[in-house]
Amino acid sequence: MHTIDLRSDTVTLPTPAMRQAMAQADLGDDVFGEDPATNELEQKVAGLLGKEASLLVPSGTMGNLAAVLTHCGRGDEAILGNQSHTFLYEAGGIAALGGVHPHALPNAQDGTLDPTAIESAIRSDNVHFPRTRLICLENTQNQCGGRVLRPDYMTRIRQLADAHQLKIHLDGARLFNAAVALGLSAGTLAAHADSVSICLSKGLAAPVGSVLCGTKAFIQEARRTRKILGGGMRQCGIIAACGMVALNEMIERLAQDHALAQALAKGMAGIPGLSIEPDHVETNIVFFEVTHESISASQIADELRRQGIQILALGPRRLRAVTHLGIEIQDITVTLDALRKIMA
Ligand SMILES: *Cc1c(COP(=O)(O)O)cnc(C)c1O
Repeated sequence: MHTIDLRSDTVTLPTPAMRQAMAQADLGDDVFGEDPATNELEQKVAGLLGKEASLLVPSGTMGNLAAVLTHCGRGDEAILGNQSHTFLYEAGGIAALGGVHPHALPNAQDGTLDPTAIESAIRSDNVHFPRTRLICLENTQNQCGGRVLRPDYMTRIRQLADAHQLKIHLDGARLFNAAVALGLSAGTLAAHADSVSICLSKGLAAPVGSVLCGTKAFIQEARRTRKILGGGMRQCGIIAACGMVALNEMIERLAQDHALAQALAKGMAGIPGLSIEPDHVETNIVFFEVTHESISASQIADELRRQGIQILALGPRRLRAVTHLGIEIQDITVTLDALRKIMA
């Protein structure tokens, strides 16, 4: 049976062009800085994001962890969203490995952190307090439904950070989705961040890899942090070569994923017992709620799975569907038909 996998855009498989690029990649030892394919990718990403330098890491989790550990020392505090990936889904790594104190603030529905709340969270210089060093933002904001952070918001947070000598790290696992949705360059969206990490293996469909960007000095330090974390890789050009294809060929097509997510959300809005705000679906992530008392989110996910459709139940009444390279419009039609029958 053809399964429709809407659990995440991480399930995308490398394209034939990626497999070919992998086979032909020009390789060396990247820990010696001698892997041509990796050097080329790092230059390309730095250019796209308007930063001086960048660093290939095995995962988005390591990109964020290396960034936080490079910006902060033990006992320092990082302000982040209580719905952020770093706070929820990275196994507490910043605390476990970096001794960094997370100060979580509620994400608004649109993915932002209230600037006034950030300002109040910043500690004064007092022996009782951890030192606030860093503000972490996420674009798109996954758990808020793939919401995009806009340039005027980034400008506001930059002013605030500058006023208190803080750094900004941007988790841009899906920054290219935000860029495509807004019709802006990824560089524009990353301009006010001191560091930014992007994922090659989500909607861009590469098999492995994330890239952390920043100033030359920051990336030099982050390279050391990556080594500490065991993330120094040797002939990682086989990964970088796929990443190059991802950046050259897969960014523009994210618009198709967004259109499918919109079609899914609009269809769901017409199904009694489901609650969704299609206007809030800005990219490829569709969160929706079950309002019928007679059925739970996990029962819906189970019933869909029996019909060859996979989505994630992320709470008693909350579900998530994500569109990506492997999903076509007929998959959306089939999913909506199945949901209509389940909810009837
Ligand atoms: C997927 C994701 C990451 C990184 O996850 P890995 O599984 O480690 O690659 C980071 N931030 C966000 C918002 C994500 O969605």
